[in-house]
Order: sequence, then C-alpha cells, then structure tokens
Amino acid sequence: MNINYYFNENINDFINHIKLDIPSINNYNIIIGSNRCMGRVRDYKTYNVNKRCRFMALSDSNLCKKCNNRCPNGLINENLDENSALYKTYKKKNSNFINEYDLNVKLFCPYTEEDFIIHMRNIQKHISKTNHIMQNSCDIEDIYNNLSDYIDINSFTNINTDDPTLLHNTINFYKKDIVAKMKLHLTIAETEELYDKIHDFIINNSNKKSINELIANADIITLRELNHEVDLYLLNNDDKHNPYSVYMNSKSGYLLIGYARNWIDHNGDVPDDHKNHEGLVLDADTQLPILEVEINETGSLLTGIQKGIYREWEYDDEVEQFRKTSYIERM
Ligand SMILES: [Zn+2]
Repeated sequence: MNINYYFNENINDFINHIKLDIPSINNYNIIIGSNRCMGRVRDYKTYNVNKRCRFMALSDSNLCKKCNNRCPNGLINENLDENSALYKTYKKKNSNFINEYDLNVKLFCPYTEEDFIIHMRNIQKHISKTNHIMQNSCDIEDIYNNLSDYIDINSFTNINTDDPTLLHNTINFYKKDIVAKMKLHLTIAETEELYDKIHDFIINNSNKKSINELIANADIITLRELNHEVDLYLLNNDDKHNPYSVYMNSKSGYLLIGYARNWIDHNGDVPDDHKNHEGLVLDADTQLPILEVEINETGSLLTGIQKGIYREWEYDDEVEQFRKTSYIERM
C-alpha cells in the first residue's frame, strides 16, 4: 500500500485531531503492519489449504492466543500432517491440494490499505471515546449553566433574531467556538442540545429592537487618541452605573465597544466644589456632568485605541482648574 499517501492525507489529520505534539510526518519510509498468527485454519468452503488464522500473534509467539492453546492444523508454512483430519478432508474434496501449498509465509504482514484504514479508525474511535469521557463529563452542564461566560451578549444586540438564517449562523458560530475552546467531543444528540441551549440564550438576551433604529436617535461623540478618530454612538441604558452604551459603526454593523457615564471622582482628584451632591464632577462652564468613556477590549481591538477610560476634561492641581483633554469631542 502507499503509506506516504496515508501520512499525507490521514495521519497528519489524525495527529492534529488527537493533539499530539508531533511534527508533521512526511517522507518517512515506514512499513506498517503486524505479526499475524501462523496457524492454519480449515476452509470448508473452497478447501484452500493456505487459509491462515486472521488474528494477531502474541508478542512472544508466532501464534495468536487461541492457536497457542490448540493448533490442530499445524503452521501455515509447514505441510499438513498426513494423518490429520483436515488432510483427509482436503484430499477427498480437492485431490490436487498438495500442489497448492504456499509455504513462503512471513510472520510480519504489512497492512493492506483496507486493513490499515480499519486499524486507524479503531484507534481513532478509541481515542475520541476516551477523550469524550475525560473531557466532557464535568464540563457540558457547566457550560449550559454559564453560557454568558462563553457568549458575549453585547455582540448580538445587532442581530435580528427574526432572520432565521442569521440566527442559525450565529448559533453555529458560537457552537463551534465553544466546542473548539473547550475541546469537546460531542455526540450528535449533545451537539443538538448545545445548539438549542445557545438558541434559547440568544433569544432570551437579544435586544429585539433593531440597533439601526436606535442608532438613528443616538448622540454622537468623537474619540481622538494618537491618530485615531472614531465616531461613537451613545445609546441610553437603564444601567445607572453605565448610562450609555457606546457603539462604533463598522463593516459588520454597529458594535458595542464600551460604555459612557458621568465622571465620579473616586480618587479624590477634584475639589468638592466642582462636584454636585451625587459626587459627579461638573463642567466648570456649563455645570453639566463631565462625560467619561470606557473602551473595552473589543473596542480596543476594533479601533486600535488603547482600552481604558477617556474624559473630556481633567483637573490640573497646579493651576487649580480643568484642562481639556481633547480625547472626547461632543458633536
Ligand atoms: Zn491463530
């Protein structure tokens, strides 16, 4: 058989599948096979005297376990005992059989392509079965109960869940992501269950209103840092601590990249007479709360702006007044 073909097509895939840390195997001159039992077995169908036991030989014998205990028909590389029952039967059924001996038989047999595929599939089955038991038993229920750890709710606020194709693709995306991240080996039933759980999670958490509709009425501010200039869309939230969600317009739609809120001076950098009774820092001119924008990790990746908090104003101790940061520009 063409072993190189199988290394190229199957074995490297297989190695990747079981995550062995082996460099890819190419151009090795390897013969794959096994020691096959040298016992002769009777053939009452075609009376073939060369019919050989199909089992693997024991490691310290040229016979399999069964033939090692009892091997009435002798070895495949020796002539049949003329007094044996099999000799008499063959002679009766096929008088010419003694000319058909093929005694040039080796213990080691290279696999045929078919043998080899079967052999590898058995190993694969065995490994994925073992992995399945090892890796899934503790994780899968845990994943169902904590889907919010695996799925960013904010990432699908702009998914119209009434669009079945979009919904389906989104579920599949998260399903694949979870399976890959958690190295799961799921049965078909488990895969379907995971799909259903993700489906329900998305439906329960999705914002039914189209984000485009909401954006139409959003406030816009511009965030400048280094040479980046990004228009941010502020949407009102019910969340008291993060009264605005910040979206950015990207190729894939509006993406949530952070939150905007009024600046509360937790560090005590600003004198109290610049704060209102709630502790919000106020713009000296307008007496309106000063805005701060927090860019999250996603936002940082999308915009190239470092994640963190940006403010319209900062307080300068030395001159005892506010200074414009130029990070945030209100439109
Ligand atoms: Zn045998």
